[in-house]
Amino acid sequence: MSKFVYMFDEGNGQKRELLGGKGANLAEMTRIGLPVPYGFTISTEACNAYYDAGKALTSEVELQILKALSQLEEKTGKKLGDASNPLLVSVRSGAVHSMPGMMDTVLNLGMNDQTVEGLAKLTNNPRFAYDSYRRFIQMFSDVVLKVDAFYFEQLLEEVREEKGYASDPEMLAEDWKDIIEGYKEIVKKHAKRGFPEDPYEQMFLSISAVFDSWNNQRAIVYRRLQKIPGHLGTAVNIQSMVFGNMGSDSGTGVAFTRNPSTGEAKLYGEYLINAQGEDVVAGIRTPQPIVTLANEMPEVYQQFVDTCNLLEKHYKDMQDIEFTVERGELFILQTRTGKRTAQAAIRIAVELVQEKIISKNEALLRVDPEQLNQLLHRRIDDSVEKTPLAKGLPASPGAATGIVVFSADDAERLAKDEERVILVRPETTPDDIHGIVAAQATITSRGGMTSHAAVVARGMGKACICGCEALNIDLKGKQFKVGEVIVREGDVVTIDGSTGEIILGEIPMIEPELSDEFQLLLTWADEERKLGVRANADNPEDAKKAFNFGAGGIGLCRTEHMFMDANRIPVVQDMILAESSREREEALSKLLPMQQEDFEGIFEAMDGLPVTVRLLDPPLHEFLPDKEELLIEVTKLQLTAPDSEELKEKELLLRKVRHLDEFNPMLGHRGCRLGMTHPEIYVMQAKAIFYAIATMKQKGIDVKPEIMIPLVGHVNELKEMRELVIKAEQLVKHETGVEFDYLIGTMIEVPRAALTADQIAEEADFFSFGTNDLTQTTFGYSRDDAEGKFLQMYIENKLLPENPFASLDQEGVGRLVETGVKLGRTIKPGLKTGICGEHGGEKQSIQFCHEIGLDYVSCSPYRVPLARLAAAQASIKNDLTQSVSALQVQK
Ligand code: PEP
Ligand code: MG
Repeated sequence: MSKFVYMFDEGNGQKRELLGGKGANLAEMTRIGLPVPYGFTISTEACNAYYDAGKALTSEVELQILKALSQLEEKTGKKLGDASNPLLVSVRSGAVHSMPGMMDTVLNLGMNDQTVEGLAKLTNNPRFAYDSYRRFIQMFSDVVLKVDAFYFEQLLEEVREEKGYASDPEMLAEDWKDIIEGYKEIVKKHAKRGFPEDPYEQMFLSISAVFDSWNNQRAIVYRRLQKIPGHLGTAVNIQSMVFGNMGSDSGTGVAFTRNPSTGEAKLYGEYLINAQGEDVVAGIRTPQPIVTLANEMPEVYQQFVDTCNLLEKHYKDMQDIEFTVERGELFILQTRTGKRTAQAAIRIAVELVQEKIISKNEALLRVDPEQLNQLLHRRIDDSVEKTPLAKGLPASPGAATGIVVFSADDAERLAKDEERVILVRPETTPDDIHGIVAAQATITSRGGMTSHAAVVARGMGKACICGCEALNIDLKGKQFKVGEVIVREGDVVTIDGSTGEIILGEIPMIEPELSDEFQLLLTWADEERKLGVRANADNPEDAKKAFNFGAGGIGLCRTEHMFMDANRIPVVQDMILAESSREREEALSKLLPMQQEDFEGIFEAMDGLPVTVRLLDPPLHEFLPDKEELLIEVTKLQLTAPDSEELKEKELLLRKVRHLDEFNPMLGHRGCRLGMTHPEIYVMQAKAIFYAIATMKQKGIDVKPEIMIPLVGHVNELKEMRELVIKAEQLVKHETGVEFDYLIGTMIEVPRAALTADQIAEEADFFSFGTNDLTQTTFGYSRDDAEGKFLQMYIENKLLPENPFASLDQEGVGRLVETGVKLGRTIKPGLKTGICGEHGGEKQSIQFCHEIGLDYVSCSPYRVPLARLAAAQASIKNDLTQSVSALQVQK
């Protein structure tokens, strides 16, 4: 018989897959002797068995639950449903990967008309007992019977008003009794059944509901976002209740062992006196900062601080801990690795190394490269005068500008139309997750730093401000007021999640800088990685940015971008439209110094580092006006100014545009095919590069140029282009008298090039895999059409695991890259190889590049730090796998 249920003292922290994160940690804390209310965990395997049985608990699982329950009863000396000494339990979800707030929970289970009386007597606190009972009815009905919480809130509000109370603590036991009767009526009306009084029925129904919540909408969205597989299932934890709402000597709270926003090594959290756990995370009352607990309950505070230190040392990472104080006694309800911003992740990892708790390699593996994106975003320029409209809690750093919206649905709808939105809510619930995803940032008027909005925003790296009580939000009227100022839906605001400030209008932003800890972590990464990291940059500014982010050179300079400038495009058009070779030469001679100047700037920024310059790639019509627009202009002119010069010019342009028009430009007249038919363009570019080299050399700059020929499919193309470049080199050397070295290589971006890479290697000093085009040409997809039309559907239906333009398709495109490297190196063993498609800045693709032995990856300047870290992680992981297999061989 399989085992599906584990008492807390049967498990341990290693059994996450089986017990879920929460269950494993509860077991571990029980094992190390912390004050954890006793209970048991129903495993993730039971969840899968539940789904296999068509969403039903099998009798085997039910039997094991009953057995565990009786063990729990024995240990606590209480019994489920016993009117004189009732056991009350919580039923909580707990998946392998933490999914905060995404699944359901039921608290105070075991209450009914009899046990409530027992609890009242036992605690000598009828007010507390009836309050707990009504909370249970409300939560159970919401989670299990699917009765909207709104009906209960409405009744509560009515009674409160009728009695003239400002808040819940003013309610008397008798008031709660009335409310309970009202609640039961609501259940009858909306659930079409009576509220179940039998605690066993309550328990089994709650367990099923928690299993069901694994597949609720928000859990599915969250899993998709976090790439958590759907087959894992959730465990369910049944734990005896402790109560934080038993009076002013009780309370509940959440704390992080370090600041999850900045990483500062200081206890960070909040609590509420006389409240239950849900009150803190739901953000309904704004809680007190944890330090004030030192005054209110000094002994409990000290015990809690000691426990936090112990847990952090035990898990060797920052912990997110939930606790409850019941009549002066501290209980730990949960510990988990705390979610954190990128800034905090870096600082915590670095400081844990400095505190000798973890190794440098462990620190490198702790930070998710994708998360680094958050730090490389722009922030508000401090030098600009600004008057904040209001200030809330700085819940998640980063700055954002956008139009104000008041519902998650509006946020999603407008963001789809490319609108930047800021979601404003009194508080957020897990049902708002799609709005938080779509918005640039979220603001709430209630709730603390551990409220739902804050936790979710930090996890996503989005700016967030919480508890901004100055905001008087009118959801129906779609506006908020701060004093006399009214901000309506559609108005623009800027927020700074690091200071909590909300500012009217758009505020200028500045470029990011890397913190000291970030720099240090990256130097550790550099010591570890084998892959070089270069940047794709087309102008001196980007080259400088890339250098500051630690790029080891330029892996791709797309020269066509230099032509797009407003001053240059007319000259480029003259070159394309030239009727004679003299006219064309004239235009080219104007372009040459322009390009040369750019190359000089780039070489200077990359002094001592390699710079790969690619000759012209896109089809020429990309530099001409759009055909349809031109046609309209010509038609208009034919009617209004039939004899004008302008019409003649436009007609000529239109003829040329038509002549260059292609059925399929992606596979058309581009790349080295242009160089073959218009060698004078490539010659001009090569000369501009060589003149720039000569000038820079004379200035004492160490230039390491690499000239790259795009879209080669046959070795003969490369051979011809190589000869052409060499001729230009000789000419410039002769003219300037300056000697220099350089490489000529090719991009591999069509399958034929990869498959004949041995032949191509004969003519190439290096290969750079252009995996953007290689993905297009391998799949036979045109990227714009695929992403706009069918790719999303393919991914949603799991036909493809991921977008192959974002993460390299290792089985297909990757195999071609691997083949290309192997074939190339059969001819030239030390052949330099790199990748310059967008995949060069994506962590899984970088791992693959490491495994197949590329020399470098090249990516956008902003992704350079990410790539440095990902390359180090690839190397560490590879070494770990190798030592594990070496051990297995020894055995
Ligand atoms: C590529 O194809 O991967 C590449 C880098 O070139 P481009 O994106 O300019 O086509
Ligand atoms: Mg390309």
